[in-house]
This record gives sequence, C-alpha cells and structure tokens, in this order.
Amino acid sequence: MTISNAVTISVGDELLAGETLDTHGRTISTALAARGCRVLQHRVLGDDVADIAAAIVAVTAFADLVVITGGLGPTLDDVSRESLAKAMNEPLVLDVAAEAHLATWYAGRGRVMPAGNIRQAMRPESATCLENPHGTAPGLQARIGRALVVILPGPPSEMRPMLEGVLEVELPDAPRPAIVIRAFGIGESDAAERIESLMRRDVSFPVSTTVSQSLLSARLRGNGPDDRDSIELLAAQVEQAWHPFVFGRDEDTLASVLGGELAKCGRTLATAESCTGGMVGAMLTEVPGSSQWYPGGWVTYENNRKIEDLGVGAKLIELDGAVSESVVAAMANGARHRAGADYGVAISGVAGPGGGSVDKPVGTVWVAVADDAGIDARCFRFSGGRSVVRDRAAKTALQLTRLRLRGDESDLLWQRDARS
Ligand code: ATP
Repeated sequence: MTISNAVTISVGDELLAGETLDTHGRTISTALAARGCRVLQHRVLGDDVADIAAAIVAVTAFADLVVITGGLGPTLDDVSRESLAKAMNEPLVLDVAAEAHLATWYAGRGRVMPAGNIRQAMRPESATCLENPHGTAPGLQARIGRALVVILPGPPSEMRPMLEGVLEVELPDAPRPAIVIRAFGIGESDAAERIESLMRRDVSFPVSTTVSQSLLSARLRGNGPDDRDSIELLAAQVEQAWHPFVFGRDEDTLASVLGGELAKCGRTLATAESCTGGMVGAMLTEVPGSSQWYPGGWVTYENNRKIEDLGVGAKLIELDGAVSESVVAAMANGARHRAGADYGVAISGVAGPGGGSVDKPVGTVWVAVADDAGIDARCFRFSGGRSVVRDRAAKTALQLTRLRLRGDESDLLWQRDARS
C-alpha cells in the first residue's frame, strides 16, 4: 500500500511539561516530506497507556503511517509498547531475537542486564521488532487496519537511523529533490523582493523564505525525481538574485564555506575578538580540519589585552575608545601579523545591556578584516539583546571575511554609513 500521509505522536511527560522541546516532530516531518509524504498532524502525549492507545486507535482510522517516538525505555513510565498492545487488543509476548540482542548488548559492555530490562524485548503478538544498533530498546512495527504504525526510541541518535531504515523500506522512491539556499547579510524583505516572481503561489515550484538565527534561507522543492533539473535551475536563479549574500546550500555554514574557500586558495585566517569572546573561533573550529586554515586567535576583552596581546596602541584606545575604527583595524592587523596569517578578522563592540552611550549605543560593533592589500573596517548597529548582538557580530565577521576573499565590497545588513 502506498504511504502518502502520516501522523506523528511524541510521547513523554517531559515534553508536555516543557522540559524537553519536541524536536522529533520536525525531524520526522522533514524526512517524510523529502519522500513525498505529507504529515497531517503532530500529537504530543504524556506517559499514559489509555491516552496513547486511544490516540493510536483514532489516528490509524485515517492515516497511512503513524510514527510514535519515545516511551520504549526499561522503566515503568515507558509505556509505548503496552499502549500499542492495548490499541491492537493483543497480548505482549517475548521476542527471542530482541532478548538475544539485549543480552549481547550488556555482555559486550561487561554488564549484567537489570531484570526489568527484559520489558524492552516484549512486543504485541503480531508486531515485529526493529533492530537498534545504537541502544538497547528495539523499535516496533505493526499494522492496524490499513495503517502502518512504528514506534521509535526517544534518544535522537537512536531514533534517526531507525527512522531512515523504516523509510528506505516503506517509502523507497527516490526522495523529492529539495535544495535550501543559505544567505546572510541581506534583509528578508529585500531578499523577497528580488525573487518576488519565484515566490508566487501559482508557479509550479513556489520558493519560500525563512529567517532563523539571522540566517536567511530559500526553500525549493520538487514533486518527484523528474523535477531535479527544474529545481536546480530555480536554485541558480535565487543564487543570482541574492548574490553576493548567498554563502551555501543545505548543511553549509558560514564557517564551513569560508574554511573551504581559504583551503582552496591555501590561505589562513587569525581572529581577534572582544565582545564576541571567542564565538568566531568556536564557529571556525566547529569545522573538521580547520587547523589547515585557522591557526588560532585572541580573546582580548579588556583593553590591556588588546595592547599587550595584539599590539594595539594605548593612545588609540585612549583617543578613540575600544569600540572604534582605529582600534578594530589595529586588532585585525595585530592578529594577522602575530599569527603569521594571510587574513586577520577583528570584532569590538557594545553587546549590552550596559555600556552604551549616545555616540555608541548598545549594538554598535566594529568589524575589520585585514590582509596584505589593506584593512576593511566597518561599523554595524545590531538590534536585539546581548546574545543576538554577539551572534550577528560573529556571523558578520565571517561573511565580511568571505566577501574580502572574493574581492567583493558589498554593504551588509545592519551596516552604518552604507556606501551604496
Ligand atoms: P530511554 O531508553 O532513554 O528511556 P525511550 O525510548 O523511553 O528511551 P524517552 O525516555 O521517551 O525514550 O526519551 C529519551 C530522551 O530522548 C529524552 O530524555 C529526550 O532527551 C529525547 N527525546 C525523547 N522524545 C523527544 C522528542 N519528541 N523530541 C526531542 N527529544 C526527545
């Protein structure tokens, strides 16, 4: 039977209490959408057998696929398998293969299996167990009427591979082509205007845009494998319209793309950070293999550190203040020279909530990139609280460096005295 729609049920008192954010609903929806399956409902339920069983009965009346997550652990509050048995009106029986898997799992770690854990090898009589190579709890799969019901373990590292395994068998068609274009440094309404005709709802593949953590994304999706070329063509149009702010696609990050470009031209980058306290360094070192192009950097939060560690002139700080064009330029140059790097990037600003003045209100941040051709220092005024200002400053530093590498001098969002 073809599966064209689904319902997800996330189980756990901690989800209802707001202690854990239900991210599985989104993960599952994204994976199903990529295979052309529409999610009709997300439900979140507590650890209650009657509630979960009633929900399973209700949704199997109309959904092709029901994906339940959580509640497969060994403790008494893990009740998903009992709930499935109740919904199916079947007894729980011991699955011999699952019991053997549990025994091997514990023996392999030199541990004795707690007696209660045998519950994890139980399944409703006509259900089958799904192997779990990443943990103890097997998943469960069963038919109720025309619906396929699967229960996956709660921990994301166990849930995701098991979900992919189920989807490869049950929705084997090539995934729908999908591309996400990533951009930074352009406002959402400006970006939307540039691709207005592609966003109309009456075109074959309408483009939608979202902003999350100041990163702008355009989502493009086809209906089947035959749409791959059309989606690729559309992606090229969006990339051209948003040039030079587009830095990558899908899982690309500003740091991974910048690192790739530095590696390609055999150059290196050093950092000098004040108000971001090492955030740029953290973003860069998140990229595997970053030592190839990132020798390191300095967190120079207090003025003496800027003077002693980076060679910024004390007079400059005295005259212009630490948040100024001259100081951020000297920081970028100092980092570049002292690390023996090709590029130096520096940040100095007022992240707030205190420390602002009439001249330099909270959110004022100077960012500079230095290389052997000179220094590009720019002033930004970021809105938002302290963490938003710091995050935007760090991302701006990466984007500005990326543009410098490409020889592009475009103004970025939040820039003061934009030159265009
Ligand atoms: P365990 O053997 O760990 O008890 P389980 O299958 O019973 O596994 P839960 O106890 O429900 O799973 O969840 C285990 C952990 O998985 C939770 O503490 C939480 O961190 C994560 N988790 C569970 N459900 C979700 C969800 N819907 N969204 C995000 N994380 C979740």
